[in-house]
Amino acid sequence: MTRAVYLDHNATTPVRPEVVEAMLPHLREGFGNPNSAHALGQGSRKAIEEARERVAALINADASEIVFTSCGSESDVMAVYGAAQAGFNESAGKRSHVVTTAIEHFAVSGTCRELAARGFEITTLGVDENALVSPESVSGAISERTSLVTVMTANNEIGTIQPVAEIAAICRARGVLFHTDAVQGVGKIPVDVRALGVDMLAFSGHKINAPKGVGGLFVRKGVRLAQLIAGKQESSRRGGTENTASIVGLGVAAELARKDLDAHAASLAALRDRLEAGALSLDGVRRTGNPALRLPGTAHLCFQGIDGHQLVVGLDLDGICVSSGPACHSGATELSHVLKAMRVPDEWGKGALRVSLGWGTTEEDVERFLASLKKVLGKLRQSATI
Ligand code: PLP
Repeated sequence: MTRAVYLDHNATTPVRPEVVEAMLPHLREGFGNPNSAHALGQGSRKAIEEARERVAALINADASEIVFTSCGSESDVMAVYGAAQAGFNESAGKRSHVVTTAIEHFAVSGTCRELAARGFEITTLGVDENALVSPESVSGAISERTSLVTVMTANNEIGTIQPVAEIAAICRARGVLFHTDAVQGVGKIPVDVRALGVDMLAFSGHKINAPKGVGGLFVRKGVRLAQLIAGKQESSRRGGTENTASIVGLGVAAELARKDLDAHAASLAALRDRLEAGALSLDGVRRTGNPALRLPGTAHLCFQGIDGHQLVVGLDLDGICVSSGPACHSGATELSHVLKAMRVPDEWGKGALRVSLGWGTTEEDVERFLASLKKVLGKLRQSATI
């Protein structure tokens, strides 16, 4: 049987063998509770603290500023809800305004909706045709009642990279906390919390070749958050016995990502460009977004008059794994919220295809994708004319 071609790394990534190897002892004999005083427990504690150092090194944070969570979504909720609620409490209710954007992941947009239902005012900023948020619009939205601004680092669908450092500088000058959902950025592009000047930054294990069900939040020293899960773990920021094995896996994945970040990004961008050039040579195909300001492994294409879901199914039958949109949206024939925000016309947006490359993607994968795309697209166009 031919190997499937996996080009859906923005949805999730394979776990690297080095990560699995590092995790196994903690699922077998090293099962101690990291909060126990005995040697077995302290072995787990040591492994967690080593992982914290490794993750911190990837984003230039201090290890004490890393909070481990169960996933990227939890990290986002911890930041957005936690900061909004803490700001509200500390200002005796005067600060009850949050600024966000129209292209955020549901973990952020859903939390903002929940805050709105609780009486917070939410400003949702639009984006341009490349899914870029303008720093000026952020500045214009901040008022004396604003406690938090949240803008994602890189979009999961289009791959657009936002001017995070500029936005963070505006927030700092205005005395407002800034959170960025960097789940798609960390491990793929250089992310340096000091250079960016962010207060909080969310990341997730399964986007960087660690397992699903582990993530983290960078919380700058001194930032206060309302606690979502009561308990003393994670420096009293998050209760719950730590998931030692997965945290260890995340640490190893972070170190591997840091070691070859630039070379890996350059080789992915070259493969992505080859893939795009091949796809764009076909009729009725457009690239979405700004070719310069985006993730190296993400290509987003729109096929005029084609149903993106049918295209994904056709490619899948041919052994190619891709998406028509974000993982939580795939299968829907409606335009995603991101394409709507970018004002992509229906006749193009309904034929959206997200192809995301990552660790393990080869030239042969790209060639197989292109051959299959040509075949499936030909069939779909032919059946549309019958
Ligand atoms: N934020 C972004 C931009 C994402 O792409 C994702 C996952 O797709 C998340 C947050 C949520 O991460 P997790 O799946 O770890 O909850």
